[in-house]
Amino acid sequence: MDFSDSINSIKGIGEKTANNYKKLNIETVGDLLSHFPRAYDKYSDIQNIGTLVAGENAIIKCKLVKTPVVKYYNKRSSTHVMVEDYSGQIELIWYNMPFLKNSLHLGAYYIFRGNVDLYKGKRVMRQPLSIGLKEFDKDKKKLLPIYPLTAGVSNKSIKKSVDYALHNVSFPEEKFSNSFLKKYNIITKEKAIKCIHNPKNDDDYVLARRRLVFDEFFTFMYGIHKLKSEKKLLKTDVKIDSFNLSNQLIDSLDFELTEDQLKCFEDIKSDFLSGNVMNRLIQGDVGCGKTVVALLAMLAAVENGYQAVIMVPTQVLAVQHFETINQMLERLKTKGGRVLYGKDGTFSGGKKPRTVLLTGKMRAKEKREAYELIETGVANIIVGTHALIQEEVNYRKLALVITDEQHRFGVRQRDMLKDKGKDVHVLVMSATPIPRTLSLMLYGDLDISVIKSMPLNRKPIKNCVVGTSYRPAAYKFIEKEVKSGHQAYIICPMIGSLQESEVPIDYRDPETDVYESELENCIEYTENLRKVLPMWIRVEYVHGKMDAKEKEDVLKRFSNGDIDVLVSTTVIEVGINVPNATLMYIENAERFGLATLHQLRGRVGRSDLQSYCIFMYGKTSVKTQERLSVLNESNDGFYIANEDLRQRGPGDVLGVKQSGEMEFKLGDIYNDNEILKTANEAVQEMIRNDKT
Ligand code: ADP
Ligand code: MG
Repeated sequence: MDFSDSINSIKGIGEKTANNYKKLNIETVGDLLSHFPRAYDKYSDIQNIGTLVAGENAIIKCKLVKTPVVKYYNKRSSTHVMVEDYSGQIELIWYNMPFLKNSLHLGAYYIFRGNVDLYKGKRVMRQPLSIGLKEFDKDKKKLLPIYPLTAGVSNKSIKKSVDYALHNVSFPEEKFSNSFLKKYNIITKEKAIKCIHNPKNDDDYVLARRRLVFDEFFTFMYGIHKLKSEKKLLKTDVKIDSFNLSNQLIDSLDFELTEDQLKCFEDIKSDFLSGNVMNRLIQGDVGCGKTVVALLAMLAAVENGYQAVIMVPTQVLAVQHFETINQMLERLKTKGGRVLYGKDGTFSGGKKPRTVLLTGKMRAKEKREAYELIETGVANIIVGTHALIQEEVNYRKLALVITDEQHRFGVRQRDMLKDKGKDVHVLVMSATPIPRTLSLMLYGDLDISVIKSMPLNRKPIKNCVVGTSYRPAAYKFIEKEVKSGHQAYIICPMIGSLQESEVPIDYRDPETDVYESELENCIEYTENLRKVLPMWIRVEYVHGKMDAKEKEDVLKRFSNGDIDVLVSTTVIEVGINVPNATLMYIENAERFGLATLHQLRGRVGRSDLQSYCIFMYGKTSVKTQERLSVLNESNDGFYIANEDLRQRGPGDVLGVKQSGEMEFKLGDIYNDNEILKTANEAVQEMIRNDKT
């Protein structure tokens, strides 16, 4: 069996299962083996029932001493059993799983794991998971992989398939030489892949992960350095040298551009005039106003008779950009009642701006219409998602390619889009303020413009970092903001309760001892909020697993002001612009990296209204509270990024949260800073060798 073989060749995976795996982007054996665990679980020792205390998570080995009882209330039910070991008894309760009754037998022995709770003064265990006796003995000391899942694919099924593949696949030849492996202190890829799925202990895991992260960084940086050496001074025939339309947009805006926005546009202009291909990164904190700069560049392309395209990572963002751009163009047209370009569509030799939207979720007919507009050159400002790089799309005279929120795209996608035209200018926009040392390594192929200044009308966001005892006050505060006509976001780390999910796999955070099932989730939080807040406050939720149409609909209603409070997972992290939202309130803030939290905060403070951000933490360590307090100190993304880097020591590996940047599969540019540096050295060496 080879890496490239279809997963159908794995025992137990048929047509139907294969389709489910597809949803996880797993189509080949290789895909499966690079579907890495997102976390690991470890069984603690078996505890005595007699000494269990409320609040702890425990594993017990026990005998069932009463026949299970199922109680029904309306449509809900609970299943109760009594178990004991030599030290005492405890009641176990499951909700809405009446069928369990049939698999629990009087007098039989079981191992259960769950949270101990107090109910009417007695200790109970709610919703415990059962572990097979044999399985427990076998896995006692091991790190047990927990995989990212989807409907129809259980953790067990993935584990089984992975084990089968590991036994039967022949691994490709190691790409690095022995001396190279030794020099950079990495193990072979084969060993690493075997081990990441079945680590014997923590050290084992750390080594496996190190190799895989090294590979991610190495491949990324090597690609970039290749690009750089090939394309640095690539000449282009694209001629963009008049900027009237852009200047008219600047005049027609109802705000003044900031100094940095203007400077950035100057950089772009001089790239256009240089005769060489532009490869520029615009780095600017959330809310600094990158979209308008992008539009200025696009208008320059349009005025000179070319097409420009902007690609964004999500459907929602694409629609939003499309609308924003249309609105701005509308102003351009009607400024002072004058039409600035003629009816025949001409404007100083070029065409009039004509926008088109293209996303994967559009109907086939809509798509065909978009292709047509693009191919004939009727449309010259093209907004969309990945759909823009599909084969079916042929551009007429593409001169400028912009990717927004770029860390969600790989270099490869950027390249694919660029290859749709000839010697095309490339502009990359990123809202991630990365410390300079890192951006030099990661964006070596790009010239960088930084937008540091925020629009003048902004008031600094007021922050607070608080524990859950502050929650009632926070709710009062929501009420107050909504009363004054503003809107609020609330972020929860989880989507729904684990009880409702098909696969009740729970993951314990080693630092805080908190299980995922104990974290706040959007669905239940929303239900509760509707009860707690006054009736007239409209609360809705949105999350990543919702269907695209539904999601879009909720976001649309929020942005129209038809929803007051939006409870969400981090799906709203990128790009969404609702200036009337003045409160960002994050539950379980301890669960997120500083960069993600900062991005989330960037959703408010987008107008002249005073905005607020509440970072609420659950059970957590002092160290994490200190980490969060950085957000209290500053609203400056660069400051936060630097602090983030400074605070993380090496060795902080097992169970750390991803900072959420750059979207490497495993690697994290902050946590794995040391590996990043090593990989960078290795890339330099490889490039030197390539040359000789
Ligand atoms: P980001 O850089 O995060 O993509 P956006 O481009 O979405 O930011 O801009 C955020 C908001 O700020 C938008 O509503 C935009 O119209 C507004 N904006 C942009 N530039 C300025 C400015 N110079 N002065 C005032 N408001 C501005
Ligand atoms: Mg943006």
